Amino acid sequence: MAQILTARKLHAQYGAVKVLHGLDFDVEEGGITTILGANGAGKTTTLRAVCAMVKTEGEIHFGGQRIDGRGTENIVRLGVAHVPDGRGTFTHLSVDENLRLGAYVRRDKAQVEEDFERIYTYFPRLRERRRQQAGTLSGGEQQMLAVSRALMLRPRLMLLDEPSFGLAPRIVQEIFEIFREINRRDRVSMLLVEQNAALALKLADHAYLLETGRVVISGPADVIRNDESVRRSYLGY
Ligand code: ATP
Repeated sequence: MAQILTARKLHAQYGAVKVLHGLDFDVEEGGITTILGANGAGKTTTLRAVCAMVKTEGEIHFGGQRIDGRGTENIVRLGVAHVPDGRGTFTHLSVDENLRLGAYVRRDKAQVEEDFERIYTYFPRLRERRRQQAGTLSGGEQQMLAVSRALMLRPRLMLLDEPSFGLAPRIVQEIFEIFREINRRDRVSMLLVEQNAALALKLADHAYLLETGRVVISGPADVIRNDESVRRSYLGY
């Protein structure tokens, strides 16, 4: 199957501090890849590197085009939507207004209106709260809003940074089921960063395990999930 995203010899640094040391990874078109690793392994930085939010070296291709060296907005316009950790919704704006901002680069205004409906079908709870200020939503609802805002871009690839963080298990389950549906129904490819390895390995088809900015293990998610020594040594469950 074709790759929608490939990174080769990817390095990243903050000032003089080097954080990624030559990563190679792929996301298949229509697939879900997860990047796992402990605190500080470089997972968040990997997503930031893809959308040019940190200084990088190496090659990144998206949809057949080379994207390293381009600006973040340019990469967003190609169809890469980033859902950052900490969610990053505009707390003083309503749910509707947050979604409208998600579509700011789009010109197909009629389809934007259709997408409101599509998204509110995925997340009926947001529809009920569409005029409510985002800052007053629960943690789970804010995460749903962050994902929805990214979907308003009609992305081909979503970069999801720890979407389970701080949420109750029941809500996490709900959100991950919706990820699966978005992936299958809308063919949105996903690159998912998670500390919750068990959860991520159930959703993903391919996994990479990072340790201090290097890939130490990679392979099909079900193989990694069923490898007891990997699980015990690296994943802690
Ligand atoms: P976590 O799960 O804790 O977010 P992570 O795997 O996502 O961990 P990163 O956030 O990518 O890890 O951080 C990797 C390394 O880069 C860490 O050592 C961190 O201290 C460092 N780092 C992250 N952001 C910055 C920054 N803005 N300036 C300097 N160093 C940073």
